[in-house]
Amino acid sequence: MESILVLTHVDEGNSALTKASLEAVTAGLDLASRLNAPLTIGIVAPDPKNLSESLPPARLLAVSGEAFAQPRYSTDAAACEALGRAAAASIVLIPSSARFARVAAGVAHRLGGFIDTHITAIGGTDTVEASRWFYRQRVEAVLTRDARPWFLLLDAGTHTAFAGAPGSAQVEQIAVNLPALRTTVSGIRAPMHDQQTIRPDAKLLLVAGAGWTKKQLDGQIHAVEAGQLILGFLRASGASLGSSKSLVDQRGEDQPILPFLTHLNQVGQTGATPRHPKGLSTCCHGEEPHVVGWRFIAERRAISLDPNCGWTRGKADVVYVADAFQVMPKLNALLAAKKP
Ligand SMILES: Cc1cc2nc3c(=O)[nH]c(=O)nc-3n(C[C@H](O)[C@H](O)[C@H](O)COP(=O)(O)OP(=O)(O)OC[C@H]3O[C@@H](n4cnc5c(N)ncnc54)[C@H](O)[C@@H]3O)c2cc1C
Repeated sequence: MESILVLTHVDEGNSALTKASLEAVTAGLDLASRLNAPLTIGIVAPDPKNLSESLPPARLLAVSGEAFAQPRYSTDAAACEALGRAAAASIVLIPSSARFARVAAGVAHRLGGFIDTHITAIGGTDTVEASRWFYRQRVEAVLTRDARPWFLLLDAGTHTAFAGAPGSAQVEQIAVNLPALRTTVSGIRAPMHDQQTIRPDAKLLLVAGAGWTKKQLDGQIHAVEAGQLILGFLRASGASLGSSKSLVDQRGEDQPILPFLTHLNQVGQTGATPRHPKGLSTCCHGEEPHVVGWRFIAERRAISLDPNCGWTRGKADVVYVADAFQVMPKLNALLAAKKP
């Protein structure tokens, strides 16, 4: 019979489990109930005392101590290894956070297991069937394996975060043999929140296309105004910012650019495939190599001057054939008026 372990960790404030961790808990609960298998949840946190309140009935294991207040390969790998040994589970579900993604393969190796990454769904009633996408999200494969323990690294945003009634289970403390620590975490240097344009948890994806930096109806380029409109919208809406390839490529082609965009913003066949409930494309033509990156955007809208663009050909739910330089200021004004 299978037994399931879900590994979780605290957020940067060390006060709650991360959303991705709670998504993995949902996946673990579903799988455990389908297979009628026992569920264990492992917690990596400096102080796991109040964290069990956000977890369902299950066997709860935790490692604790200041060493786990910061992400660090050696301590996180030792913690996950100790939890894995204590649970002795056949299936281990791990949220694909920056913190766990880098240690998961090492931990699987230490426990003599196998690992698959980028898992988006887990099915099967008698066996475990893990789905992931290949070839830039064009081909979906369903994987099964006989090897155990089988580690599955779950992509964020593929399950709802657990928010059900908590269990009253006691937390069992697991001792960890820490190796000599060579790495001291002196702090985190990150861009200010409003400078960080890629926001995986945002409800909306705003995509900027190359049209923003092209000559407009008056024969002029308005790249500075374009930048202000886009950043204004991001500030007011909290949306995440994506880009077409053409627009980010312009940086290397001596053409007008939007300085806050990099290739990390690129959505599409050779870019990212983000997951958001809604998407708004602006000044972008909606060509297939770009739209393939919208596979997981549920509701799609576009603003394009071209009534024959790809969006109008069945790739968007709603298309506004309009000038984005006129629409976006109005949208920003409406958002500003809504702010308390
Ligand atoms: C192998 C391969 C891989 C690729 N991978 C990717 C990828 O990952 N991602 C990607 O994006 N592309 C990718 N491409 C490129 C892709 O085919 C398109 O060339 C690219 O998406 C076009 O970008 P765009 O729509 O922003 O620019 P354009 O094609 O230049 O379109 C600009 C649009 O803006 C509109 N516009 C201009 N001004 C305004 C205005 N004021 N208001 C409203 N609309 C306006 C224009 O009418 C036009 O429709 C790939 C291509 C290949 C061959």
